[in-house]
Amino acid sequence: MSKEIQTILASLPSVDVLLKQIDPVYPHGKAKEATQEVVARLRESVVEGTRKTVIDREEVLAMIHKQLEEKQFSLRRVINGTGTVIHTNLGRSSLSKAIQEQLLATSFNYSNLELDLASGKRGSRYSHLVSIVKKLTGAEDVLVVNNNAAAVLLVLSTLTQDKEVLVSRGELVEIGGAFRIPDVVTSSGGTIVEVGTTNKTHLRDYEHALTEETGAVLKVHTSNYRIVGFTETPKLTDLATLAHANDLPLINDLGSGLLMDMRPFGLPYEPTVKEVLDQGCDIVTFSGDKLLGGPQAGIIVGKKEYIEKMKKNQLLRALRIDKMTLAALEATLALYLDEKEALKTVPTLQMISLSEEDCLGKAAELAAMLQPITELSIKIEKDSSTIGGGSYPEHLLPTYAVVLSCEKFSPDELQERLRFAVTPIISRIKDNCNFLDMRTIAVEEFPMIQECLQEIFG
Ligand SMILES: *Cc1c(COP(=O)(O)O)cnc(C)c1O
Repeated sequence: MSKEIQTILASLPSVDVLLKQIDPVYPHGKAKEATQEVVARLRESVVEGTRKTVIDREEVLAMIHKQLEEKQFSLRRVINGTGTVIHTNLGRSSLSKAIQEQLLATSFNYSNLELDLASGKRGSRYSHLVSIVKKLTGAEDVLVVNNNAAAVLLVLSTLTQDKEVLVSRGELVEIGGAFRIPDVVTSSGGTIVEVGTTNKTHLRDYEHALTEETGAVLKVHTSNYRIVGFTETPKLTDLATLAHANDLPLINDLGSGLLMDMRPFGLPYEPTVKEVLDQGCDIVTFSGDKLLGGPQAGIIVGKKEYIEKMKKNQLLRALRIDKMTLAALEATLALYLDEKEALKTVPTLQMISLSEEDCLGKAAELAAMLQPITELSIKIEKDSSTIGGGSYPEHLLPTYAVVLSCEKFSPDELQERLRFAVTPIISRIKDNCNFLDMRTIAVEEFPMIQECLQEIFG
């Protein structure tokens, strides 16, 4: 090793010395990790000869702080410019800011999670949701698990183990992530009995399929898949009458689980949870983080007698939700007690109901903020957003996007630079440009986009 290299290496401050001067907002473990990485990187470049000047402490500290700021955690907030409201890769629904206080209070302190405050005796974590779910859906009882896939598994393994489950051939769907209805029935110990045909299933098809071994009739929302044209399925009320005449439960996996009518916002008719319960379904399951706009959860509502059995199933312990999810779910549901309030405060609903004019107004605002970046070419274009999460698969929402292009980078390169921002920005490439859809970006996020682009274009 040359004398010169030795001198530069000697100028490199030690990890211990540097650590004492790191901003205390960063957790010690993270600070230590970043410091070790930066010091090792500098040492390597000195030994390799790419670094030829002595190193001063301020320079190293700045590098460490930059790394801490950029790489604080692997899981990070991102800005969703894709226009897909319920984007599974981006964490589906973002929670309402209105529930922050409740989430903080219950998560950072002890809570009455399993304590009945009235009697002082042991309570049930699921009891907290009973009265609000009853108000919103009319259901007798409720149970919540990790996600809707778990909900379906728990329902079937409780009610139809070693029994036959009747499902229409038109509803034997795969939802994504390898969740296939026939496989779920089989893995929960039941036997699937296919009823009707792909496009048409009649009430008499269900009737003819009934045997001594039948355990339930299962309806499945086809979510991300539609059969159109010459199709038919029996009315839910008729199916319920048939199931009840044979002492069987009618189970409905609703997927998204709407709590309010979305037709006023131009969306096609979809039954709400309350409607399918009113039409005679005994058990209904749906997701917490699809159209509901809450945390990831699987919600099971319906008849007490069936839900009581599920509470005794060993599997429930393995699928049980934690207190943070429960707090977020109860607080999200509480927003629905006033539908106007829910539309304003639940981000998923707020984004879906945003009008075309509102999207245009937001686009104009962001475009004006970016105008001073002369190297960037900015346009505003009419475009379409999708809802995602398997909900309303064919329906597009009219929107406006801020469309970015430049001479310096190819569309892919610009997209990558946006993704590498301190708060990554996820864009959509169309017509060789980067589209930022205004439906899924909040006005509060505009300054971050401005800052990121200022940095990219120096
Ligand atoms: C999305 C969906 C599921 C799975 O729900 P997760 O909450 O993602 O586990 C199950 N069934 C239907 C019909 C769905 O649409």
